[in-house]
Formats: sequence, C-alpha cells, structure tokens
Amino acid sequence: MIKIHDLYFKPFLTATQISDAVDNLAYQVNRDLADKKPVFVGILNGSYMVMADLTRKFKHDCEVAFLRASSYEGTSSTGELVESLNVDVDLTGRTVVIVEDIVDTGLTVDMLSRKLLKHNPAALHIATLFLKPDVYNRELKIDYVGLNIENKFVVGYGMDYDNLGRNLPELYVQTQRMKNIVLFGPPGAGKGTQAERLKEKYGLVHISTGDVFRYNIKNGTELGTLAKSFMDKGNLVPDEVTIKMLSAEVEKTPDAAGFIFDGFPRTDAQAKALDELLASKDTEIAGMVALEVDDEVLVKRLLERGKASGRADDANEGVIRDRISVYYKQTAPLKDYYAAQDKYHGVDGVGGLDEITDRLSVEFDKL
Ligand code: AMP
Repeated sequence: MIKIHDLYFKPFLTATQISDAVDNLAYQVNRDLADKKPVFVGILNGSYMVMADLTRKFKHDCEVAFLRASSYEGTSSTGELVESLNVDVDLTGRTVVIVEDIVDTGLTVDMLSRKLLKHNPAALHIATLFLKPDVYNRELKIDYVGLNIENKFVVGYGMDYDNLGRNLPELYVQTQRMKNIVLFGPPGAGKGTQAERLKEKYGLVHISTGDVFRYNIKNGTELGTLAKSFMDKGNLVPDEVTIKMLSAEVEKTPDAAGFIFDGFPRTDAQAKALDELLASKDTEIAGMVALEVDDEVLVKRLLERGKASGRADDANEGVIRDRISVYYKQTAPLKDYYAAQDKYHGVDGVGGLDEITDRLSVEFDKL
C-alpha cells in the first residue's frame, strides 16, 4: 500500500501486465496502420508514458505530437477542458491517432476528436491503453484498446492524483486506509478464537505468530526446530527470529486491507520493529485491543484447551504459569507503549463468545 497526498493506493497492475497491454495496443496499430504514416497525438500529461512505449513498438514511419488537456478535478475526468490545440504538424489529409492513457466517461477524447476533425484529417482513430467500459458513455468509437479495466481510480504509468504518482512504473488503485490492529491479552485470553471471527467480519488478514511457529514445528523446518526449544519451556522465541518471520508474513499479502496481529508484538523491541515495518508501508497500528482476563480463569482455560488440542505447552500447569509470568514481565508493559499513543482499548474477556466478539467489535469499529 502507498499513500499519495491524503489517499491510499494498492497494487493493481504490474509493470509486466502494463507492458502486455501496450503490446496488445501496438499489435492492433501495427496491423492497421503500417503504411499510413500516422500522426500519433498524445494527450498531456497522462499519455507521455504510453506514447513513449507505444511508438517504440510501432515498426513503421510515424510522427508524434502532443496536446494538453487539463483536469480540474483530482479523481475524475469530468470537467476536463482542452486548453490548447496547437499541434505543430499539419493534420490535413493525414491518418491521426489520438493516444490516451485512459478513457473513462470519454468526455475529453470526444471533445478532442471533434476539434481535430476540423483539421480535415483523412482518418481519425482513438487508441487508449486503458478503457473503463462500465462508465464510457459516448457514441464515439474507441478503435484500439490495450486493456479494459474496472471503474476504479488508478494512478501510475503517467496517471496522477493531484500531480503525484505519474512516475510509478506500476498501476495502483485507490483503496481504504489499512486497519492494523494488535489483538492483545495473556495466553488463554481467547485472542486466536476471536481473531478468526473478526478477520471475517472486517476483511482483515490474521497473523498469529504462535500458529506460524506451530506450523513450522509440524513441518520440521529449521525455524520450527529452533522455536520449539523455547516454546516447550514457555519462553519467548528470540526477537530477531520472530521479527524476521513476522515481516515475511506481512509481505505475503501486500494488498491486505489490514492485519490483526495476534501474539505479536510481545516485547518492546517487537513493538518498535512493527512500527517501523508499517511505517515503511505508509501505514501504522490503528490500535491495540486487549482482552482482559484474570489469571485463575486463564490457567483453567488453558488446561482445558490442552486436553482438547494436544498442544504441549497447554498440557502442563507449570509451563502455563511460566507463560503467564513471561507475559506479565515482558509483554504486559506494551499496554503502556500503546496507551502513551492513545491507542490502548481494553475489553472484558470473560463471557460468551458472541458477547466478547460484540465487545471487541465496538472497539474495532472506532479504529
Ligand atoms: P501463542 O500461540 O501466541 O500462545 O504462542 C505460543 C508460543 O509461541 C509462545 O509461548 C512463544 O514461545 C512463541 N511465540 C509466539 N509469538 C511470539 C512472539 N511474538 N515472540 C516470541 N515468541 C512467540
């Protein structure tokens, strides 16, 4: 996810996918206009990239000219006006191709084509790299299209949001701000169970570091073997290892709407690393939502869970008490870290499952 001015954007098309769309456009133009010595007329500013790439792939003689149309609204093409029509090539009797980066309602290209027709070209064609067929509403035929795309606001590859983003080699689409939440609480507070429910409800990606470690143990990986030696004793896996693993998990879903972090961070160093990781993605932790449960309830719950799940670290009351004491020593102070930023929200973690989900949802809704 990237931030441009006040808006957030997520990856939409890779440079390779864009290049394929240009190839498609170039194929059609090469096929039809090989011996026409066309004049490609680009609409500034957006079309400069597609113009450069398209004409490089045009295998015959051609000329290139530009017109400027300025957009008066940041995120839509309504209100676009043609500012100047000074083409320094005589278009009379020529095959003219208007080259657009994107056509949505078609207002600009329609108006331009009317104006260019007054120069009496032999033929006038429209070529656009991207077309939004859902909103295009003109009679004018778009002769050549690189790729049809959905009606979303995109930036990159020549296209801007309020003048920024044109230089991005990939295409990005507008999205909501990420909602990244730390679901907090001692072992046995019910974080995993509630995270599974909340991820569905809010469309977030759930990352449980404990689950990732257990997955690695089950599959006999090097990481699993290392983690097991700490987990079996109820100790924390070293920060360096955990932070690296967490970063890799986050990278797996670059277009996530947000994450529920469950079991991470557990130390001061992890909290700082998480802040840095999210800052590098122009986002942050929206809040820490904590399940508050008394120790004796926790021990009882964990022993029950151990019987049902067979989890080694839940089966032994000594290990359970060690985990709770590690929690109070190393993890619980993180409450202050987030409270200092006004991001701590505590919730009563004792009650029915639905009841607790409702309590957590009240806090999630506010973030
Ligand atoms: P959990 O499933 O969250 O209760 O985690 C089980 C065990 O995995 C913990 O007792 C730790 O040994 C290890 N673990 C999970 N998350 C972390 C973390 N963020 N930092 C260090 N160790 C962790």
